[in-house]
Amino acid sequence: MTARIIDFLNSRRPEGPCLVVDLDVVRENYLTFAHALPDTRVFYAVKANPAPEVLALLASLGSNFDCASVAEIDMALAAGATPDRISFGNTIKKERDVAAAFARGIDLYAVDCEAEVDKVARAAPGTRVFCRILCDGAGAEWPLSRKFGCEPQMAVGVLEHAHRQGLRAYGVSFHVGSQQANTEAWDGALASAAGIFHTLAERGIQLSMVNLGGGFPTRYLKEIPGVENYASSIDSALKRHFGNRIPETIIEPGRGMVGNAGIIKTEVVLISKKSDSADDLRWVYLDIGKFGGLAETMDESIRYPIRTAHDHDEKTACVLAGPTCDSADVLYEKTPYHLPVSLSIGDEVLIEGTGAYTTTYSAVAFNGFKPLESFVI
Ligand SMILES: *Cc1c(COP(=O)(O)O)cnc(C)c1O
Repeated sequence: MTARIIDFLNSRRPEGPCLVVDLDVVRENYLTFAHALPDTRVFYAVKANPAPEVLALLASLGSNFDCASVAEIDMALAAGATPDRISFGNTIKKERDVAAAFARGIDLYAVDCEAEVDKVARAAPGTRVFCRILCDGAGAEWPLSRKFGCEPQMAVGVLEHAHRQGLRAYGVSFHVGSQQANTEAWDGALASAAGIFHTLAERGIQLSMVNLGGGFPTRYLKEIPGVENYASSIDSALKRHFGNRIPETIIEPGRGMVGNAGIIKTEVVLISKKSDSADDLRWVYLDIGKFGGLAETMDESIRYPIRTAHDHDEKTACVLAGPTCDSADVLYEKTPYHLPVSLSIGDEVLIEGTGAYTTTYSAVAFNGFKPLESFVI
């Protein structure tokens, strides 16, 4: 909750649901990462919130950018980043998109199999590639599963293949899962990375970089460890596995950079029950739901802090749902959300910690609802 956002909402009184992002918080988050990990370059994961103001601020602070598409690369360039500060970090790229990135001067690409290496070798010859390895995502509230990365054993072959294709086998990457609560989660992947460095060195290929990915959490309902705790755990894991030959490192924070910088303002459209029984749960319907930007409530994974003007009153368990005519548009039902008994139709509700993974997840016009409006202040 920031005073600047509250002042903005009180003075501007925007109509309809909207996200307000406070750039002061983004600046503070960037500086916290930069200070906690002084030898590590920050590549902001653009997909978390690609608002031009956010990208321009981060570019001015010296951030680099992890992009998943040519459109994101163009946004980072437009924000003032030079091509040497941009990576094409998606392991699933069309060859013509690799060519488009190469034409823009991008020199750093993610791969996780030989077929992807072949695309980069053809469309972006001579560039640097890093191979993503699988990570189980244990401890993360939003794990990233098996879709990206390969077994460490296979990564050796992928990077060797890249070397033979005239690319620079540059390093190894992984992602420990988003909203990672365990500060030690990097240890196992760093052990694997060190193994890959070692095996390739024996075959005459010197890797340079470990990409530590994202996963740094933002504060929702539960207390989270500070960035300094993650930094010191990563630092000791690097020393443990790489000894005195610490590689170049980068991090790709998304959620941890912008999550706590945003608040969504929404309003109660309806409060009802499904039967006359007194102990039946209340259903509270907001003017935003899964299709309006709160997609991360899928499987009730992310539980946002919710503020109302009645929070000092008695609370009761409620099912919280969105406004659209799709039955999937329910935010919290398996674990109901406790909201004030005095909450009524028309009341404003603030959803905190919504600076990441909201605007870009909102549908264009499902049921005629506008995409989530965003103000960056
Ligand atoms: C989404 C993504 C990130 C950001 O992850 P957070 O958990 O939001 O920090 C970082 N790297 C890659 C490759 C990603 O796809």
